[in-house]
Amino acid sequence: MHEFSFANHLVQVVMKSVEKNNVKKVKSVKVHVGEFTMIIPSFLETCYDIIKVNYPELEESRILMEKIPGKVQCNECGSITEINLGKGSKEPRDNVIPESLARPNIFKCSTCKSADTKIVGGKEVTVKSMLIDE
Ligand SMILES: [Zn+2]
Repeated sequence: MHEFSFANHLVQVVMKSVEKNNVKKVKSVKVHVGEFTMIIPSFLETCYDIIKVNYPELEESRILMEKIPGKVQCNECGSITEINLGKGSKEPRDNVIPESLARPNIFKCSTCKSADTKIVGGKEVTVKSMLIDE
């Protein structure tokens, strides 16, 4: 499962910081989820909950997710366009592949309308901050 490897990565990042700073209990972890990761938030949460039981410092923690837009850069004019795929719905329906993903290079530059673009952001999950119990 795609979400499981992301959740595992998150736990590793958090635990590195926990060990470095001698944190006893983590209350919450704020995470930025890129638009192009195609992560289903409830799956990621479930995976995190499965992994965290192995770490006493994380047992009572939860992840707070914030979607961040994907970014494409235009090969013609160099400007960056932000992409939001799932407008309107909170979670992607998993049996529907958005047309924009089925057809590469559909992401058009908002400046010059060129379809010659490359993805430069939104494919990652990053830990932004942690709330801890002293
Ligand atoms: Zn352009």
